[in-house]
Amino acid sequence: MSYLDNYDIVIGLEIHAELHTKTKVFCACKNQFGDEPNTNTCPVCTGMPGALPVLNKHAVELAIKAGLSFGCDISPYSVFERKNYFYPDLSKAYQISQLVYPLCIGGKIELDSGKTIRLNRIHLEEDAGKLVHINKAVGTLVDYNRGGTPLIEMVTEPDFSSADEVVEFLKKVRESLVFEDIANCKMEEGGMRCDVNLSLKKKGDSEYGIRTEMKNLNSFKSVQRAIEYEAERQAEVLATGGHVVQETRKWDDASGQSYAMRSKEQAQDYRYFPDPDLLPVEIPSEEVARIKSEMVMLPQDRRKRYIEEFGLPEYDAGILTSTRYISDYFEKCVENFNAPKKISNWIMVDLLKLVKEQEEFEFPIDEKSLAGIVKMVEEKVINKTVGLQLLDKVIETGKDPLVLAKEMNLLVTISDDEILGLLRKLKSENVKVAEDYKNAPEKVVGFIVGYVMKNTGGKANSAKVRELIAKEFQ
Ligand SMILES: [Zn+2]
Repeated sequence: MSYLDNYDIVIGLEIHAELHTKTKVFCACKNQFGDEPNTNTCPVCTGMPGALPVLNKHAVELAIKAGLSFGCDISPYSVFERKNYFYPDLSKAYQISQLVYPLCIGGKIELDSGKTIRLNRIHLEEDAGKLVHINKAVGTLVDYNRGGTPLIEMVTEPDFSSADEVVEFLKKVRESLVFEDIANCKMEEGGMRCDVNLSLKKKGDSEYGIRTEMKNLNSFKSVQRAIEYEAERQAEVLATGGHVVQETRKWDDASGQSYAMRSKEQAQDYRYFPDPDLLPVEIPSEEVARIKSEMVMLPQDRRKRYIEEFGLPEYDAGILTSTRYISDYFEKCVENFNAPKKISNWIMVDLLKLVKEQEEFEFPIDEKSLAGIVKMVEEKVINKTVGLQLLDKVIETGKDPLVLAKEMNLLVTISDDEILGLLRKLKSENVKVAEDYKNAPEKVVGFIVGYVMKNTGGKANSAKVRELIAKEFQ
């Protein structure tokens, strides 16, 4: 029995993702993680007096792509506003964001259960710098490299009712953003962060409770744990006659607890106002159509296509769409040789093991060559064993597989007479095999095929061998 049994959990999210642009959103500084501190800065992103921001069009395009990925309406008119507050990582003392007129409105993402999570908006803004806590003697230093990095903020409606739903949603968001190359979403680098607003509602009640906010959760695991902890905490407060205080709480992964940072009374008034240095952004519908036409098919749509059109099992479709690279590679192979399941097997069994444990990789063979090898195997010009040898050789030399197969004399097929000769030899040398075959052919056929393969260097066509065994051993 948990205090939570009497309550429904209500969760809404704010998700920040850094956009994958070469430069920052309002200046020409590099947008690059991990560089020497304070090397990617200029008067604009550090907010020197008189410096003027210039909007990065690519950042706007990526934000629009994000909106289109999640079914948002792209606003023809949006406005940048200044969100004013002081913090040492924000040298300008304001963040350029969007409030009243965001770039993308509405939208939704469907969970596997069929439940729909509605988006309220996606807007474009800039990131702040980063405080680096060194130690007591040195204190805290500030790195402004991140200041001015383009961010999208996605705001959901309070549609979630469990940590599991939230994590599934975040994984789907990340998958889509990475697939379309909108954002890297490297959570360990802060490339995707999530604020969780959580309240409890008495079962059967329609009225929402008081909510708390937990900011900047940057792993799926901490999101999960923070939600579970906070729901229990609020339930206990309510069940024991207390009141939940509207406050911002900080989740501490190490202790597995959250603690209060500031309450609503201390909350700031950001005094938003339109940034006088930036014009409103006007996006004609033709521009939206152009951006849409440049987008690739999203992973969930590709999975559907692989299952319905190519007849692949769900498992295959899942692995093949796990990254944009693998999915594009697979599709190109299929364009070269239309045998999706066979290609899928080669990728999943023989190629992925060559690159396993590498986070970012390219397969060591191009799509056309792989398709060429699979085709030779399927057309029985070579068998799978030889095909694998050929794969190694193509990887080693980079040569065309057909040319190599000819050079290596792999295409020489073993004639029926040669196979029959071997079978007769076996029969005369090993009388028992012939007897065994008559009694229970299925028990010895593998042994006989193995014998022929061994004596032909694996070049015989096994289907052919079986056919001849049936004839010869009758
Ligand atoms: Zn700059």
